[in-house]
Amino acid sequence: MEKSIWQKDNNFKLDKVNENIKTDILIIGAGITGVTTAYNLINSNFEVVLIDRQKFFNEVTAKSTGKLTYLQDLKYQDICNVYNYETAKLYYETQKEAIRIVKKNVKENEIDCSLEKNESITFTTDESEVSKFIKEEEFLEKVGVNYSNSSDSLKNDEIKRLISVKNTYVFNPVKYLNGLLKKIKKSSNIKVYENSIATKIKKEVDYYVVIVNGYEIKTRKIVLACNYPFFLIPGFIPFKTYMEKSYVAACKIDENKKINGITSNYPTVSFRFYEDKDNKYFIYLSNSSKICDKLNYEKNYKKTINEIEKITGKKPIYKWTNMDVMTNDFLPLIGKISNDDPNVLIATGYNTWGMTTGTLAAKILADLINNKKNKYEKVFSPSRSINLKKIKNFTTNTLISNTKAYVLNFIKKNPSWYKNKALVTKQNGKRVGIYFDNEGNSHVVSNICPHLKCFLTFNEVDKTWDCPCHGSRFDIEGNAIKGPSKDNIKIDETK
Ligand SMILES: Cc1cc2nc3c(=O)[nH]c(=O)nc-3n(C[C@H](O)[C@H](O)[C@H](O)COP(=O)(O)OP(=O)(O)OC[C@H]3O[C@@H](n4cnc5c(N)ncnc54)[C@H](O)[C@@H]3O)c2cc1C
Repeated sequence: MEKSIWQKDNNFKLDKVNENIKTDILIIGAGITGVTTAYNLINSNFEVVLIDRQKFFNEVTAKSTGKLTYLQDLKYQDICNVYNYETAKLYYETQKEAIRIVKKNVKENEIDCSLEKNESITFTTDESEVSKFIKEEEFLEKVGVNYSNSSDSLKNDEIKRLISVKNTYVFNPVKYLNGLLKKIKKSSNIKVYENSIATKIKKEVDYYVVIVNGYEIKTRKIVLACNYPFFLIPGFIPFKTYMEKSYVAACKIDENKKINGITSNYPTVSFRFYEDKDNKYFIYLSNSSKICDKLNYEKNYKKTINEIEKITGKKPIYKWTNMDVMTNDFLPLIGKISNDDPNVLIATGYNTWGMTTGTLAAKILADLINNKKNKYEKVFSPSRSINLKKIKNFTTNTLISNTKAYVLNFIKKNPSWYKNKALVTKQNGKRVGIYFDNEGNSHVVSNICPHLKCFLTFNEVDKTWDCPCHGSRFDIEGNAIKGPSKDNIKIDETK
């Protein structure tokens, strides 16, 4: 599988769960949310266990572009459109607070993660977008942001409008979390385990039993920091969210221009620079879509690579894909998963802004665990009420998209780009996917995602079977390598 620029810095080894455990708090998932939550609980009165199904911070966080910014395309007017100015302002405050928290953590722990002050811009090459920029600028003015409509670092005649702010940051997310983990490992109240997959949650009278690697973890509270939960109930998260995917590439360049940017128009283009002690890089993201669209992965990779080569004149040395959980009202889901399960906490739906929102979520979760009031708890509550705009967005983003993915993959089992490399067919009455490797061997797996029964598509570049509904991924032998599916798709010959 292709690796991101940050994954090379993820090189430590931890134990895995191989016995029954009793704890106060079980955190499931060690991305930015889970690790920062554990960090916030160092020296608390609680015994804490932090687990991940694979290596720590090797998933969505490790495949992001690592921007820490409150200028997030035209996010504030999106929130104003569904809610109102006060809610958008509250969200703006959370993003500023998260940047402060990361800076403080880096300073206090002397973390070498290339945290660097950066200019952030949102820009468009489409004249019809300009009126939206004017609205966003009105919001920024009202909350007191010092912005500009030009940038010294980016001059391009095709740009019709841009908003620039100077007090934002970029970093290497994996090195940052490595720094927090070092401190967590030294604390006496927290235990960490990799290669430890949670597969089941059972509710008892005043505690929960979570099955991890087949063992039982007894816990009073659960924090679901797994990006996307591996179950439907409680919370019904698949009905509140949809997934978006992008293609990213990075190449070495000579100059770090200390600017990052994103387009307002869809599909998104985003870029930043990265400098470590040896090299400077240009990181470029494009070709974003809902995960049910654009299923020809090779074509998508090629498009992004062609674009970065055109911009820089250099061949990329890293290329990868990433997907994140989107919500229909542009706000994250953070807090008690449902009123019936106040001891199961969740944080997801960061709408591709999880470096800041995940950091803030960890603060809210730690406050909830410590029975402290948090002023953002209500607005981000996963059981917040529904309104008409949310229902409309749910219909287009979640309902129609997932139905489309299901039906299209059902009808068009073998798209033209499979050629002789993959085949979806029936064997013994079961729908299977077959990958033919270069040595002429065939690798047969079930073609049905165990999570919510969507049909899988073959990803020729990564050599994986990918779910176009909720993002689970499986290798050619059928092992689940990314959630939400906790089960593999190996063919069980005995059934
Ligand atoms: C292309 C792209 C670029 C992005 N760039 C930025 C950016 O520049 N700035 C920004 O703010 N945000 C960015 N984001 C968003 C950001 O990356 C995510 O919102 C954030 O990383 C999500 O963090 P997380 O902790 O929820 O998830 P993750 O980092 O995925 O962590 C969840 C962990 O849970 C584990 N897990 C899952 N299921 C189980 C289970 N059953 N048992 C045990 N463990 C489990 C997984 O293995 C994983 O390690 C980007 C997103 C995308 C798609």
